[in-house]
Amino acid sequence: MRFSKLRLTGFKSFVDPTDLIIGDGLTGVVGPNGCGKSNLLEALRWVMGETRAKAMRGGGMEDVIFAGTTSRSARNFAEVNLLIDNSDRLAPSGFNEADQLEIVRRITRDVGSAYKSNGKDVRARDVQMLFADASTGAHSPALVRQGQISELINAKPKARRRILEEAAGISGLYQRRHEAELKLKNTEQNLLRVDDVVEQLA
Ligand code: ATP
Repeated sequence: MRFSKLRLTGFKSFVDPTDLIIGDGLTGVVGPNGCGKSNLLEALRWVMGETRAKAMRGGGMEDVIFAGTTSRSARNFAEVNLLIDNSDRLAPSGFNEADQLEIVRRITRDVGSAYKSNGKDVRARDVQMLFADASTGAHSPALVRQGQISELINAKPKARRRILEEAAGISGLYQRRHEAELKLKNTEQNLLRVDDVVEQLA
């Protein structure tokens, strides 16, 4: 799986549809201060399922929608499309039907976020797991924000372990274990309730 194109529409400063072609090798983004370089990286993190508005430098998730300028009115939605070259057919099942995979996330004011994979509605969790299993995603250590290096140096051991897990490609398993533990806890609670009912009936 290889990212081949990122398209931003109404996302932060990118009001008109804008394509970032990601070719073979290294892709560099250069430009003056405030031209939107960080917004591009945030768009990539966002389409992979980022849920923390703070990580998008906003107060709420709708802050990613183009807020308007003196000459252009604000938009009602923001959309990011990520094209993935899947010719090696390494995408997990459910996403592995074609040589090209297009993941789309759209946020609409007062409605929230919706995701699509090759035109079909998918859940946020499915998209997050797709990228976690591919050892990338919104929290991937491969995406380095400004100020993140000093955060890492000062991080507690538990936070550092997360980074190692991510690099080892097991963060998807970590998420699944967490979900399994929650289910187990729920089942234990249900069993206790059944015991109570049985006792009352006896
Ligand atoms: P630097 O080199 O200083 O780090 P940069 O190229 O990384 O800058 P960004 O931080 O990506 O630039 O972009 C900041 C610009 O994006 C600002 O001009 C800001 O007004 C604009 N911006 C952020 N959110 C929105 C939004 N919702 N609507 C419109 N413009 C926005």
